[in-house]
Amino acid sequence: MIRLDGKLVAESLREGLKLRTESFKSKMGRAPQLTVVLVGENKASQVYVKNKHLACQKVGISSQIIEKPESLQQGEFEELLEKLNRDESVDGVLVQLPVPRQLKSDRVFELLSPAKDADGLTYASTGLLWSGKPLVKPCTPSGVIEILKHYKIPMAGKNAVVIGRSQIVGKPMAALLLDENATVTVCHSGTRDIRSYTSQADIVVVAAGKPRLFGREDFKKDSVIVDVGMHGTGGGKLCGDVRYEELEGWAQAATPVPGGVGPMTIAMLLENTVYLAERKLKGN
Ligand code: NAD
Repeated sequence: MIRLDGKLVAESLREGLKLRTESFKSKMGRAPQLTVVLVGENKASQVYVKNKHLACQKVGISSQIIEKPESLQQGEFEELLEKLNRDESVDGVLVQLPVPRQLKSDRVFELLSPAKDADGLTYASTGLLWSGKPLVKPCTPSGVIEILKHYKIPMAGKNAVVIGRSQIVGKPMAALLLDENATVTVCHSGTRDIRSYTSQADIVVVAAGKPRLFGREDFKKDSVIVDVGMHGTGGGKLCGDVRYEELEGWAQAATPVPGGVGPMTIAMLLENTVYLAERKLKGN
């Protein structure tokens, strides 16, 4: 079985990004810029934001963290987003979710300009994605496509099953696989007899968010399994939605957890930021 190594693919992406940020700097006299908005005191969010900041530094993206208090009001929040939309020196914006209860997180998806949407999750970005004209793509599913491409796993004409229909993983994953000419089925918590779908699939992307729910008996021999699930971040051992160890000698290829899809998510955020900055060079 081929181990689809997301760490390795992310590293090779970062090498390319370093060159692109250098080239951008030489033309624009400044680095591509990502602004991360962090509202409140959520400990996990603080760690995620710090990791994103460090990842930016490694490839030469300048990153700014705007921290706002837990008590931030809707009006101030929206003003901040509109200010960032207008700020020419900001190439990408990311609002770390969740935001405190009194704020409407939906407004982020409505207000943030798709030209600054480093996460690719605004409603405008989603519409562009499903119209076949994506500006930037949501980071986790586009990371999955990058891994499959890196390992030259053919997608065109293949039966692909996506398990999960969330806005950040399942739905955009289905759109991106369609764009690769796969025949896509989306399974979810309301699907009856999921195995009848997964056992026919050439490629299965599992994003159900249920620890170790799927194993060898769910998949067709020689299929390709991508596990997006991530569980046990609280100091315990990380695991995914799939019992990876059962796939040896059965699957053609699979992503491990950790070391599979996870490292790709931040790499794609960097890719999106550099891409949005480069669009300015082309006058878009
Ligand atoms: P979510 O909870 O928003 O969505 C889960 C989806 O799975 C839902 O659409 C639901 O219908 C479906 N589902 C739930 N139980 C199911 C079952 N038993 N059978 C079939 N479908 C089922 O979760 P999400 O945000 O899409 O994330 C999914 C998983 O991916 C989580 O474990 C999350 O931690 C992980 N994740 C990882 C990364 C990464 O960078 N590796 C990024 C985002 C999410």
